[in-house]
Amino acid sequence: MPVQEQAILREKIAAAAARGRYVLHNVRPNNAVTRTGAIDTAGAEFFLADVTVEHGKILAITPAGTPTALREAEAAHMDCAGRIVLPCFVDCHTHLDKGHILPRTPAADGTFAGALAATRGDRTAHWSADDVARRMDFALRSAFHYGTSAIRTHLDSQPPQDTISWPVFEEIRQHWRGRIELQAACLFPIDFARDETFLKSIAQRVAAAGGILGAVAYPAPDLDELLERMFAAATRHGLDLDFHTDETADPSVDGLRRIAAAALRTRFAGKVLAGHCCSLAMHDSATIDATLDQVAAAGISVVSLPTCNLYLQDRRHDGTTPKWRGVTLLHEMKRHGIPVALASDNTRDPFHSYGDLDMLDTYRLGTRVLHLDHPVGDWPRAVSATPAAMMGLPDKGTIAEGQEADFILFEGRSWSEVLSRGESSRIVIRDGAPISTALPSYSELDGLEGPAHD
Ligand SMILES: [Zn+2]
Repeated sequence: MPVQEQAILREKIAAAAARGRYVLHNVRPNNAVTRTGAIDTAGAEFFLADVTVEHGKILAITPAGTPTALREAEAAHMDCAGRIVLPCFVDCHTHLDKGHILPRTPAADGTFAGALAATRGDRTAHWSADDVARRMDFALRSAFHYGTSAIRTHLDSQPPQDTISWPVFEEIRQHWRGRIELQAACLFPIDFARDETFLKSIAQRVAAAGGILGAVAYPAPDLDELLERMFAAATRHGLDLDFHTDETADPSVDGLRRIAAAALRTRFAGKVLAGHCCSLAMHDSATIDATLDQVAAAGISVVSLPTCNLYLQDRRHDGTTPKWRGVTLLHEMKRHGIPVALASDNTRDPFHSYGDLDMLDTYRLGTRVLHLDHPVGDWPRAVSATPAAMMGLPDKGTIAEGQEADFILFEGRSWSEVLSRGESSRIVIRDGAPISTALPSYSELDGLEGPAHD
């Protein structure tokens, strides 16, 4: 199926969308991310279907070859020859404020400590409102182009950065409304929570902006108390929580268990998302089981960030080769009933030198690192319906009758075909019509503040 056919199909869909109604015959959705009503998909991972779109919404999803909801003459009919179709992606853990600072941070050495230091230096020197806004907008244009419809970003919120980044974020969220649903979580080292004045003021700022209360829950002697302060502040201000957790191979680090214990102790009623959770993979099996029982009981969700974990974990500067993959125990979590997602995390900054907020790229890497195959099962939920639920966006991340026609039509007709190429010709459909965007040119970033290095 040459790329040219994809371009012709895109034009046909665009013309049909302009007329209001069309049917895509023989598309192949993933069962787990398609609410089909009456279709019996017999548990198939992917099945052949016809999707009827009317005025930007999905009117019907019917088994391929059965009469559609519209008569022949009422709509344009297009044969998609078995192409895979997925809902638009939901990316629940990113750092839009850090994105694309890599050219300014040549001292970063691929280690976690090096990344922290390099980012701190760049933030204090260069993160003006204009700088943050330009990099965020660049990143969002890429994400939209690739087919993402909702993003949560963390925002470094150490004073005075909070007073700069949050107003910028709110403006950008408004600008992108209807294209990408944006959420933000504040980010600071959890020992900042010792300062009641700071915690109160940041919680107020986050609440006023409709955000999420977040922190890096790294080991501190009084971590349990600090967590309780975070949970109390979240309850007081009606906020959900989002923690960076255990981004290390050190087996003595057990922040995830402590977060679960704090959630249970405080009977927290909001949503809690924990990111990374790498060190869990280094615990013994009895500890793992006990931790996951608690995480499940506390209703905590987990997001794995395989790009950054592979990049930062087991980084060596002695000429030897990394031996561990760095990712958490996603299969075991899923078996415990814990909602699990994959997300992009850092892109082109000291924490990860690469990436462009393409969730297909993230999922492809996740499949290879975490073995999300044999069977594929419902793993595509990890970049769609599951993170949408974590973010409280039930209308995102699924293909469903009555919902906006927001989906991605790939060139590949099987999962292997989709994950084996870049799929640069994928057709992103929003409100029923193909988008016609281009990726922003890297040269747009040449004029950013500060010295540029290659
Ligand atoms: Zn992160």
